[in-house]
Amino acid sequence: MTKDIFLTNNLTNKKEKFVPIDQNNVRMYVCGPTVYDDPHIGNARPIVIFDIFYKILKKKYSSVTYVRNITDIDDKIIKSAKENNISISELTIKITKSFYEDCDFLKCEEPTHQPKATEHVDLMIEMILELIKKGFAYENNHHVYFEVKKFKDYGKLSNKKLEDLIAGSRIEVSENKKNSEDFVLWKPSLENEPSWNSPWGKGRPGWHLECSAMSKKFLGNEFDIHGGGIDLIFPHHENEIAQSRCANDTKVFANYWIHNAFLTMSNEKMAKSQGNILKIKDFRGKISGQVLRLALMSAHYKQPLDWNDKLLTECENTLTKWYNVFLTTNLHSEVSEDILNPLYDDLNTPGYIANLHKLYDQAFKGNDQDKKIFTSACNFVGLLSETKQQWLNIKENKISITPKDILAKIDLRNKARQNKNYEEADKIRDDLLDKGVLIEDKDGKTLWKFR
Ligand code: AMP
Ligand code: ZN
Repeated sequence: MTKDIFLTNNLTNKKEKFVPIDQNNVRMYVCGPTVYDDPHIGNARPIVIFDIFYKILKKKYSSVTYVRNITDIDDKIIKSAKENNISISELTIKITKSFYEDCDFLKCEEPTHQPKATEHVDLMIEMILELIKKGFAYENNHHVYFEVKKFKDYGKLSNKKLEDLIAGSRIEVSENKKNSEDFVLWKPSLENEPSWNSPWGKGRPGWHLECSAMSKKFLGNEFDIHGGGIDLIFPHHENEIAQSRCANDTKVFANYWIHNAFLTMSNEKMAKSQGNILKIKDFRGKISGQVLRLALMSAHYKQPLDWNDKLLTECENTLTKWYNVFLTTNLHSEVSEDILNPLYDDLNTPGYIANLHKLYDQAFKGNDQDKKIFTSACNFVGLLSETKQQWLNIKENKISITPKDILAKIDLRNKARQNKNYEEADKIRDDLLDKGVLIEDKDGKTLWKFR
C-alpha cells in the first residue's frame, strides 16, 4: 500500500490529503505557454515541477491524464509577430517547436494531451452561448463579457472581494462593458488578425476561456488538479473557475489548485518585460538539461528560487559525482516508499534530493545492488537519464562564460555607452563575441544569445 499524497491547496489555503474523484482516472490540467517568445528558465519551473508531480501521481494511480495546453492566440502573439515581421502561424509554429524541444532538453515526459487553443474555438463559442443562455454573459457591440457579479463565488481562489475589484484601478475600462470588473469572452479581430466566425461577428476568444473549453473537452466538467505559476491565480484561474462553473452548472471546477512560486534573478521575477530572461534554448548544447532540472528541483515549489551561477555549478558538480557510481540508463528497480516519501508530502523536491545524497553515499561504499537502487531513484525524477559518455561530451563543450557574467558585462557596456565611452563599449561587445556571445540592442534593451 502506497502512502497518501498531501498537497497545499490554494483553494482552501490548506495542506490536504489528495483524494481523486475517480481512482481509476486521475486528471490534471496545467496552463501551458503562450507561444510568442522562446521559453525562459522561469517558464521551465512549472514544466519541471508538474512533470515530477505527474510521475508521483502515476506511481500511485494506474491511470493519470495530464493536459497542458498551448495558447497560440493572444494579443502578445499578434504584437510579437508584427514586431518580428513574420506571420502569426510562422511565429506560433516556431515557438511551439522550441517549447517542445525545451521540454525534451529538460527531460520532461510528454503530457497525455497538448491541445492548441486555435483548434478548439468551436468549443469556446459553445461555452459562450451557454453562459449567455444562463444569464452569466452579455453581448455588446460584437464583444461578449462575463458578468462577474453574477457568480457569487468569484474571488474565492485569489481571496479577493468583489467590492475591492470594482474599486481596483488596474481593471481595464471599456465602453462596451456594463461593469468595470467584467472580463472578455469574445472580441472582434482587427483586419489582418486571426479571426473566427461567431454569432457575434468575426473575432477571437479571450485567453481565460481557452483553458475552460480545453479542460472540459479532455478532463470533463470536474477534475482533480489544476496548476500553473502563482501569477496565474488572478485573474486567469479565477476567471476559468467562474466560466466553467457557471457554464457547466457545477459546485467545483478543479478540487486542488497548485501554484509554483517564481524563479527570480537578483530577487526579481524572471520575465520578458523585466529584460532579465535566460532562454532555455541558449543552454542547449552548452550544458546538460539535467543540470537545469536539478537546479529547478533544488527549492520547494512554493518557495521563490533565485537563479545564479553558483547554483548551476553546484548542481553540475553533484551530477558529476553521481555519475561516478551510475550503472546504466533505464534501470527498472522499484523506488521504495520511504525514499519517495518527501515527494508524496507536497512535492518536497529538496527532501528527495537529500534522500538521493544518502543513497549515493551507500552506493559509493556498497555493491551493484546499492548502485542500482541509487540510479533508479535518480531516474525516477528524470536524473542520470543520459549515458555517462553523453554527460562527459556535454561537459567538454562547456561554455567559457556564465550567464551572470554576461549580464554583468552588458551592464558595464551600457554604463560605458551612457558615458559616451563608445570605445570601451565596443571592446566589451567584442570580448563577449570572443566568448561566443552575441548581443543585440533592441527597444532600449540589450538581448544576448550564444552564437
Ligand atoms: P506564460 O507563457 O507567460 O503564460 O507562462 C507560462 C508558465 O510559466 C505559467 O505557468 C507562468 O506562471 C510560469 N512562469 C512565468 N514566469 C515565471 C517565473 N519567473 N517563475 C516561475 N514561473 C513562471
Ligand atoms: Zn489556463
